[in-house]
Amino acid sequence: MKENYDKAMREIIEGIPKGTRLLLHSCCAPCSSACLETLRETFSVTVFYYNPNIDEDAEYEKRKAEQIRFLRETGWADFYDCDHDAAAFARAAKGLEGEPERGRRCYRCYGLRLEETARVAKASGFPWFCSTLSLSPYKNADWVNELGAAAGEKYGVRFLPSDFKKRGGYYRSLELSARYGLYRQNFCGCKYSREETERKRAGRAGDTAGTKGMGTDKTSETRGQGSDE
Ligand code: SF4
Repeated sequence: MKENYDKAMREIIEGIPKGTRLLLHSCCAPCSSACLETLRETFSVTVFYYNPNIDEDAEYEKRKAEQIRFLRETGWADFYDCDHDAAAFARAAKGLEGEPERGRRCYRCYGLRLEETARVAKASGFPWFCSTLSLSPYKNADWVNELGAAAGEKYGVRFLPSDFKKRGGYYRSLELSARYGLYRQNFCGCKYSREETERKRAGRAGDTAGTKGMGTDKTSETRGQGSDE
């Protein structure tokens, strides 16, 4: 039977004293918005912005600036900054550059980010850690939870399971993104996902050109504009 990570999270949260510290790995401000809205009811949250997967420094800084602005405007969490360690992602992705999004490269990418979150949570005295990665319909929640639990075990810190897209979580992130005017990127993060997105767009544009005058519009972006992660 399929694991219900959202139910597991709610059951765990019921027994946790309010104000317990949690380190939340965040991929970007839009995804963090709905996760934080839920978690802040119980936890004192610190957002951990560790995303070595993001392709270029400029994109990395843009997403980070949005994360910081969102936290400043809401006051929903503290912020823990990290360097853009692109070399760490290159090592993790080696040999899997040609994998599609949601393939084996992504498994390593989730693992890299979750492991570092667990390591820092332990070193900084956070009893719990979690990730925003389960919010996106484009992410594999089983992998996120499996890798998070393994990282927690490895470092001796508790991983909070989640499936933040459940109970309308993903749609809530869209609402909050609109309310705060958050930048929502249209590719996941790494250069391979950027290239994949560009190829798909070029394909759609070609389809549209081929059907012009037939009343068919195939140009609408179905990914959800920026749903990265
Ligand atoms: S597509 Fe996204 S999750 Fe997969 S490797 Fe690239 S940045 Fe990581």
